[in-house]
Amino acid sequence: MRTRVFRGLMPAVAATALAAASAAQAPATYDLVIRGGRVFDGAGNPWVSADVAVSQDTIVAIGADLAGKGRSDIDARGLIVSPGFIDTHTHARRGIFEVPTADNYVRQGVTTIFEGPDGGSPVPLKPFLDKVAALGMSPNWGMFIGQGSVREAVIGRADRKATPDEIATMKTLVRDGMLDGAFGLSTGLFYVPGIFTPSDEVIALAEVAGRMGGMHVSHMRNEASGIIDSVNEAIAVGEQGRMPTQITHHKIIGTPNWGRSVDTLKLVAEARARGVDVTIDQYPYTASSTGINALLPPWALEGRQADIVARLREAGQRAKIKQAIIESLQFDRGGGDPKNVQIAACGWDPSLAGRNLTEITRARGAQPTLDQAAETVMWIVEQGGASGIFHAIDEADLERILKDPVTMIASDGEVPIFGRASPHPRSYGTFARVLGRYARERGVITLAEAVRKMTSFPAQRVGLLDRGVLRPGMKADIAVWDAATIADRATFEQPHQYAVGVHTVIVNGQVVFERGAMTPARPGRVLYGPAYRRGR
Ligand SMILES: [Zn+2]
Repeated sequence: MRTRVFRGLMPAVAATALAAASAAQAPATYDLVIRGGRVFDGAGNPWVSADVAVSQDTIVAIGADLAGKGRSDIDARGLIVSPGFIDTHTHARRGIFEVPTADNYVRQGVTTIFEGPDGGSPVPLKPFLDKVAALGMSPNWGMFIGQGSVREAVIGRADRKATPDEIATMKTLVRDGMLDGAFGLSTGLFYVPGIFTPSDEVIALAEVAGRMGGMHVSHMRNEASGIIDSVNEAIAVGEQGRMPTQITHHKIIGTPNWGRSVDTLKLVAEARARGVDVTIDQYPYTASSTGINALLPPWALEGRQADIVARLREAGQRAKIKQAIIESLQFDRGGGDPKNVQIAACGWDPSLAGRNLTEITRARGAQPTLDQAAETVMWIVEQGGASGIFHAIDEADLERILKDPVTMIASDGEVPIFGRASPHPRSYGTFARVLGRYARERGVITLAEAVRKMTSFPAQRVGLLDRGVLRPGMKADIAVWDAATIADRATFEQPHQYAVGVHTVIVNGQVVFERGAMTPARPGRVLYGPAYRRGR
């Protein structure tokens, strides 16, 4: 019997796979055959009808005649078979220890998640990665080393320049992070202490990661009125540091800035035209989520919680902070109205989760004006802060960014505890929403393109050369789903709802989700970056 093996993109892999396929054919049996599906290879090609055979953790054959040759069998007739989705930006590291199955991701078809975004990661990485490796997870796991965490480890959360000695120490920590397995350096120049870092210091550290084969991922300094300068800065890190750079969760915040994605995408295209390796990732929602502190001016955030509260208790500084919050509510993250700011989670009063600033201000006995809402924000910060959801993004910018071929999908989500708090729905819905709402319903991009943005593109970007594409020889991370029904269900009001339309999810050759339930399998692995793999 002849096995048809797709060739083309990766001749070396295909040749190995041919050998593997004929070896596996001797007993005429594969571990698993997914039969009769419409196969998206992940590279952006239209689907083809094919069976996919897996032995151990590897795809060993793709052809039209493999049915009946598997020790087990998945009937995928009428369904899509695609590579498992790869999420290069998550905040999963708290939740993963409570929910190592990461149900919210796996139930969307996600098979690999990355952590250490926005400049924040454990430092050093190795003890943490050892813990994750011993955990027994459903999905695979990769890391970035965070510039903000590195800076904090060396000079704390201070608003000052680093000395040459301190920069040398930080470079060593970045190098160690890369050797421990990071895929690159993340920055979060919007957050303390990244916000206090001049561009040349960022470039000096990014260069270290770049020379070791890593990339730079940037949560930019400003995604609102300063968006153009910030895009230029993210590009400069790639251009001057001579390394791949990525604008993460690209969006345009604040009504006065809506429409400026025309300019930001043009800057990216121009940079690419002159040879700068710059790309974008995005989540498909018109609201962002971060700490409520994001409404305060950067200078007010130096140091620890106690320092911030001390500033709020000094009348002169309080007045200045309040004015900045009012402006932020009006023109920036507040989207012009206190009802656009919703509490996601609040440690000191969990009942605030899900309520917006208008409601909370009223409950405190005040009219929900911008002025009074700013008072509410300061009160929340004084009590210990909270995480928020901020509705201040325009759908047209979202779709324009999504259409750009250099944009990939990444959730910026977390592993929520089911039912706890009121997290941004992106954790439960990002991938299903792009496939359902944006590809199927609105036709903003094709299904094949949507799949590419979640599979081969992120895999190629971070240098995962054995995942993200369905070809013999690749690791068997596979999602089987229904193109007619896949959809997100999580909303801002009711976030704890799993996506629908995914039938089966396979990680490293093992089924982790089928018939609507997680299986006991925990085949997820820690994936190590280029310097670790090379040993330097
Ligand atoms: Zn971020």
